[in-house]
Amino acid sequence: MTTAPTTLLMETSTVRPIDRTTSQPPVVREAWKQELAEAIRDPVELCELLKLDLDPLKLHPAVDHHADNASQNFPLLVPRGFVSRMKQGDPNDPLLLQVLPRPEELHDAPGFVSDPVGEQPARRGTGLIQKYHGRCLLLVTGGCAVHCRYCFRREFPYAESGASPASFTDAVTEIRSDQSISEVILSGGDPLLVDDQLLETLVHDIASVPHVRRLRIHTRIPVVLPSRITKQLLHILHTTRLTVCVVIHSNHAAELDCVVAEAMRRMGQVVPLLFNQAVLLRGVNDTAESLIQLSERLLDLGITPYYLHLLDPVHGASAFDVPEHVGVQLIEELRNRLPGYAVPRLARENPGTPSKTWLA
Ligand code: SF4
Repeated sequence: MTTAPTTLLMETSTVRPIDRTTSQPPVVREAWKQELAEAIRDPVELCELLKLDLDPLKLHPAVDHHADNASQNFPLLVPRGFVSRMKQGDPNDPLLLQVLPRPEELHDAPGFVSDPVGEQPARRGTGLIQKYHGRCLLLVTGGCAVHCRYCFRREFPYAESGASPASFTDAVTEIRSDQSISEVILSGGDPLLVDDQLLETLVHDIASVPHVRRLRIHTRIPVVLPSRITKQLLHILHTTRLTVCVVIHSNHAAELDCVVAEAMRRMGQVVPLLFNQAVLLRGVNDTAESLIQLSERLLDLGITPYYLHLLDPVHGASAFDVPEHVGVQLIEELRNRLPGYAVPRLARENPGTPSKTWLA
C-alpha cells in the first residue's frame, strides 16, 4: 500500500499564511482533505483516544515490537470521524478491529498469500486489470482514506502496476481498442481519494469511448470520510453520459451513522445504482444479528446489500477468517428473517475463474 497519492493531495492543498505583500487570498484546503491530513496514524494515539488499556492488548511498541512491525509494513490509517463511531473502552469494538494492527499479522498462515485473488496474471499494463468478460478495472491510485487490516490488496505492488495519473491516457487507449469492454470499474486503493479535477478528466475520457456504457466505482470513502461526497464530486457523477454504479464497502451497521446517511442521501439523488459489498470478518460481523442490522441499515440509506464476500486469504489477515460453512449458515438465517432483496449474495473469489463463485 503506497502513501504517495495522499502526499499528492497534501502538496496540492497546503494551507499557506496570508501573503500581505501581494494580497493573495490563502489557499483553503477542502474539508475532506483537512480531515484526511488529521487522520490517526499512531496506534498508541488511537488506543489513548479510545481509553483502551495498552498493555493487555500488546499494542504499545515498548511492550510488543511485533505489533509495531505490523504497523510499519501496512501502517495504521483511520480518519477521526470513523474513530468517533467506535465504543470507548472496548478492545473488541467491530470498527476498531478492522483498523488496528495486531502482532498476529506477522504470523504465516497456510494458504494465506500476497495475491489471493490472482490479480497479477490479469494485469494489462497501465494500471488495468481484466479478470472478467466485458469489464475491466482501472487502479486509479494506491492510496486509501483508511487501511483495513483484511485488505486483499495490502501487498499489491502499486509502484509496479503503472497506476498513476500519467498512465490514464494509455489505459483509456487500451479500453478504446477493446470493443468487448462495456463497463469500467474505478478501483484502487480508493478511487475517490484523487482530486475532483483529475477524476473529472478521467470520467470524461472514459465516457468518450463509445462502447463503454457503465462506470462502476468501488469505494470505502463514503463510509470512512463522508465529507468527500462534495457537490463537485456529485456533479461529475451526475453529468456523465455513463450509467454510474457506486459500490460502497461497509461491514457493520455501526459504521453508518447519520453523517454517512446524509452523504449517501445526496449521492442517491444523482447515482442510480447504489450497492454495498461487505467482507465476512471474524469478530466484526460473523453473527446473524450483526448482518441483519447491516442489511436493515443499508436499506434505510437506499443501498442494496449486494455481496457478502468470504475473506480473501491475504498474508496477515488470517485472524479474520470465517469458515465457508459458517457463512452459508448465516445466509440461511438471513433468508429466514429478511426479505430476499435484503440478503446479500455470499461469494468467494477464486483465482483464474471467469466469475465470482456464489456459495449460497
Ligand atoms: S479501503 Fe479498500 S483498498 Fe483501501 S485498505 Fe480498505 S479494503 Fe483495502
